[in-house]
Parts: sequence; C-alpha cells; structure tokens
Amino acid sequence: MPVKRKSRGRSKGSKGRSGYVQCSMCGRLVPADKAKKITRRRPIVDPALAKELEKKGAFVMYRTETRYYCVSCAVYHGIVKIRSEEERKMRPRRRRIRPRLPRPEKRKPAIELPLGIYSSEIPIGAERTKQKPSHA
Ligand SMILES: [Zn+2]
Repeated sequence: MPVKRKSRGRSKGSKGRSGYVQCSMCGRLVPADKAKKITRRRPIVDPALAKELEKKGAFVMYRTETRYYCVSCAVYHGIVKIRSEEERKMRPRRRRIRPRLPRPEKRKPAIELPLGIYSSEIPIGAERTKQKPSHA
C-alpha cells in the first residue's frame, strides 16, 4: 500500500496502542505519538518585565511548559508546515539553541537588589569586619 509518510504520521513504530493526550488548542483527543509536543521556557513573571530584569542583571526564574497539539491545530498555528514529497523524505536536522552567557569581564557590574539581597560582588571578609564592631 502506498503511504504518504514512512512513519504514517506517527512515531509509533510497530508497537500497538498508545495513550491519548488532549490538544491544548481545541481539546481533541490525539494519540500521544501522533500529537506535536512543544516544550517552551516561559518566565514566571510577565515576559516584558522578565526582559527588563535580565537587562539589569537579575536572575529570572523560568518554568518549562509542555503543550500538545493535534495535527490540524499544529498546521493552522504554523508549528509544522505542509511539506512537498521531496521535503518529506529528507531527515530532519535537530538544532538546539543554547543561551550564551557573556564572559565574566563583559558582564555588567553587580547591583544592589531590593529585599536586602546583594549580588556576589561583595567578598565574604568585608561582611565579617562590619559585624565585629557590633559584638564588641
Ligand atoms: Zn487541536
């Protein structure tokens, strides 16, 4: 039987049934191996605020968000694209984009944060000398 895709649009292989997941757009039940799984890093705070805070040198917490999409929603929202016969035969290349940290000398100087938290610029010895006079 001629098939459009070698995998028949799934990553199931020869295994039997697989569980179902719900599409996060339309709520449709899709086989787990057929659904498009998208994992993104999202800042806990407002994205615009997170960008601003990172500019200032603060540490911003991120959480990973996993979403499943059915094929129709994935195509509609541009997560996957309809490919030609030749394109379908090509093996996909995985590219991982890693955020690059600037080199220590290029990093911005530490700043004082609210709530009495200091960046790591202050040496430990300096703090101790401050505490000693109060005890004596
Ligand atoms: Zn959907």
